[in-house]
Amino acid sequence: MRVYGVTGLKNSGKTTLVERLVTEITARGFKVSTVKHAHHNADIDQPGRDSYRHREAGAQEVLLATHQRWALMHELRGTEEPDLTTHLARLSRVDLVLVEGFKRGPHPKIETVRAATGTTPLAPAFPTIRAIASDYGDPGLNLPDRALPIFDLDDIPAIADFIIKETGLDRLQRKGSSLPPGVDWTPVGEVLERLKSSITPLENRLELPLLEAAGHVLAEDAVARRSHPPAANSAVDGYGYAFGTIDFRAGPVRLAEGRAAAGVPFTGAVPAGQMLRILTGAALPEGVDTVLLQEHARVENGLLTAGRPPKKPGENTRQAGEDMKAGQVALKAGAVLRAPDIGLAAALGIRSVTVRPKLRVGVLSTGEELIDHAQAEAAPALTPDANRPMLLSVLSRLGYVPVDLGIARDDRAMIRAALNGALGRVDAILTSGGASQGDEDHVSRLLREEGQLQDWRVAMKPGRPVALAHWQGVPVFGLPGNPVAAMVCTMVFALPALSLRAGAGWREPQGFEVPANFAKVKQAGRREYLRARLTAQGWAEVFPSEGSGRISGLSWADGLVELSDEARDIQPGDRVRFIPWTAYGL
Ligand code: AMP
Ligand code: MG
Repeated sequence: MRVYGVTGLKNSGKTTLVERLVTEITARGFKVSTVKHAHHNADIDQPGRDSYRHREAGAQEVLLATHQRWALMHELRGTEEPDLTTHLARLSRVDLVLVEGFKRGPHPKIETVRAATGTTPLAPAFPTIRAIASDYGDPGLNLPDRALPIFDLDDIPAIADFIIKETGLDRLQRKGSSLPPGVDWTPVGEVLERLKSSITPLENRLELPLLEAAGHVLAEDAVARRSHPPAANSAVDGYGYAFGTIDFRAGPVRLAEGRAAAGVPFTGAVPAGQMLRILTGAALPEGVDTVLLQEHARVENGLLTAGRPPKKPGENTRQAGEDMKAGQVALKAGAVLRAPDIGLAAALGIRSVTVRPKLRVGVLSTGEELIDHAQAEAAPALTPDANRPMLLSVLSRLGYVPVDLGIARDDRAMIRAALNGALGRVDAILTSGGASQGDEDHVSRLLREEGQLQDWRVAMKPGRPVALAHWQGVPVFGLPGNPVAAMVCTMVFALPALSLRAGAGWREPQGFEVPANFAKVKQAGRREYLRARLTAQGWAEVFPSEGSGRISGLSWADGLVELSDEARDIQPGDRVRFIPWTAYGL
């Protein structure tokens, strides 16, 4: 948080200055909080008050509440006095915190000096003092190594200007928009909503043996063909018996001959009043409904003494079908089959499943300047095509079938031919490059004039021009050419939409909040994605350059920090939303 201090000797006008600065700076539209350090006998220390009596009686904290305000008082009781940083962490986020006192704190300060209190400013001893506010001009400071600005103690606007500039508050343009004016930029949320309603899922289905189905989308509910577990069995190693037939306090209990083990059942019946050695997973034989844990049994000469007998019937056993029963829906249509799902299906006797065919996604790069990376050596003046290999890898990683549509030059006929050539071979297409409004941006023009273009100016960074369209019924994502923007737009728009197209429903990644390890002022009006990764402490750090041509930052990062459309003034320690690549399935 931005912090500025007011310090000075006793009666030098600190409180009055803080009071007047709060009025001035809040009037300029900023949110301000204050911290005051009092040496002794502050309001909260006054004896006699009700809150004082609560505290004196020994309450650790007292929360004093009225209908207008509340205050939480915490007793230090012999523990060390917290430093300013600790106190600041208790405050809600504001634009500026003004601190009265704490003259030894590390934050920058302004010192108040009044003629009435003598003429020896603190400034010489405290390099954190950045200016003087005095009621009689220059208070006679003689600091050869630094010249401090001197303000009239009553010139509140000038002092406020100084603090606002020093803290960078002047760069915080609360209401400004970061987008070029005069164009309708569509918010990310709106584009996502429109995508959601315009993409149709695949209809085809096929039957696959369970072992080949991993990664596929279920087209029909998978129903349990048998119960799990198949029969009642023991959950532990121990001794089985019929609950209620044995009084363990009456003396040692006879063990029946034999034992029951997993896959080696005991075929006889256990007589009432006797117990049978039983191992984990063994089917419960006739005459057994409860198992005594072996750790609670002592066995000597075929006689068992129970230390802690079971308290209710069925203890330490599993009932047939207690996990799932035959006929229950085990996995719902739309589920993407993961390893645990395959395990569950196998346990339930499911041998084959009805799934959607894997989604086939074409990838086309466009641009005169591009050359296939494998041939780039012979063409030092051209740009190796990075997007196509990157996007093809994204697709195969997600379990889709990547279809390489090659590179098209910036030529409408060639792009049209590439799109037409893909029809029948793909269920969706990703193109990159040529998506904005320049002369050579043929993808967006072609899609607008010959396809059905939905949206192409999205209020986000990186990647504002994005063409979302249909070509002969096939969804086309016209991504920006910059690799960073191409990747981010793929993740934000294409991946949830491809999931929908694949029959698995719209899926947005699950992010989580972490403290920021960076500072950033973000203006309102667009959503921003920063290349980010977590520090060892779990804070999000961002790639130093936001330039969307810096593909190295993508590789450096482990995910994205997503900053929503509103303005934000992020200081280190503030919570930000981090979405790891893994949340996208990458
Ligand atoms: P465009 O969106 O076509 O204006 O391209 C913007 C920038 O991204 C240009 O500097 C292009 O050279 C670059 N670019 C476009 N496509 C690719 C690609 N497939 N691989 C690497 N860079 C690209
Ligand atoms: Mg281009």
